[in-house]
Amino acid sequence: MLDTRELGRRPGSQREEKRTVPAPADLGIEVLRVPEGSPVDLDLRLEAVMEGVLVTGSASAELAGECARCLEPIADEIDVRFQELFVYDDQDYSSEEDDGVSMLEGDLLDLEPLLRDAVVLALPFQPLCEDDCPGLCPECGARLAEDPGHTHDAAIDPRWGKLQQLQQDTDPQQ
Ligand SMILES: [Zn+2]
Ligand SMILES: [Zn+2]
Repeated sequence: MLDTRELGRRPGSQREEKRTVPAPADLGIEVLRVPEGSPVDLDLRLEAVMEGVLVTGSASAELAGECARCLEPIADEIDVRFQELFVYDDQDYSSEEDDGVSMLEGDLLDLEPLLRDAVVLALPFQPLCEDDCPGLCPECGARLAEDPGHTHDAAIDPRWGKLQQLQQDTDPQQ
């Protein structure tokens, strides 16, 4: 929560603010997120306009997650920018697109939804430990990045082939 009282509701007045806040829970997506409680550095500019307060800023934080292919832990950093108009809550703001409007709560401004949206949008859908992570061996689950020459010779044990044949023969669905 940020206090905007100093701006005095005078359009044109502005204030810059740097602060570090602990990350809220669930900041990010399941496979990649800002660990709860880790520091988020905010660099903000608050500017009073006619309808409310315009917030422009950036946030940087650490990320932790797992590679979508090989499940190795990933440590990364994120740096996002955002801008949002927070409308004074005592104004009769009757716009058709009311839903997307952020409101001030008195003089207080809740930055968390804005931060959350910016972070989630900036995250890769499938985080990878390396751009060309080869993933896991489909046969044994070994990490292929650690053992690139890794192969399985399917013919080495003919019993598997027979077993598959047997399953197909006895499967009533086929
Ligand atoms: Zn990986
Ligand atoms: Zn393998």
